[in-house]
Amino acid sequence: MLKTLSAWMAGAALPASSVLAAAPFPLKKTEAEWRAIVSPAAYRVLFEHGTERAGSSPLDAEKRPGTFVCAACNQPLFNAAHKYDSGTGWPSFWQPLPKAIGTSTDYKLIYPRTEYHCSRCGGHQGHVFNDGPKPTGQRYCNNGIALAFVPQGETLPALRT
Ligand SMILES: [Zn+2]
Repeated sequence: MLKTLSAWMAGAALPASSVLAAAPFPLKKTEAEWRAIVSPAAYRVLFEHGTERAGSSPLDAEKRPGTFVCAACNQPLFNAAHKYDSGTGWPSFWQPLPKAIGTSTDYKLIYPRTEYHCSRCGGHQGHVFNDGPKPTGQRYCNNGIALAFVPQGETLPALRT
């Protein structure tokens, strides 16, 4: 009992900085560090939950086999085999790679939407909707600027640390 109580006391005494250090994403960088890596437009999407203008990304028309990786940390997020033309002007996929993304609910447009992000760095990628094609019926509507494309046969970039 005494041991439990002292463990609780120790936990309660943790400074706020320790709580921040325990943030859910494996890769954590400061705003300045990310800004040194990604463009201002990419930063706005990835870390301020922005949305690029429809049709603005060349990756919307990318049709080659390959892998789409997170523009911030290089974690592979989508296989090009799961990409399709949704007609929305944003790169769209019906399935992400296993464990590549996490989701949260966002109320930016009043009605709830499911936001998704890179599971490694937390960088916002897009929103997922239930009007996608078979076999999943899901549409991962992704900001192209939050991705980089690596054609099949080329070496994937090293995960950023
Ligand atoms: Zn990432």
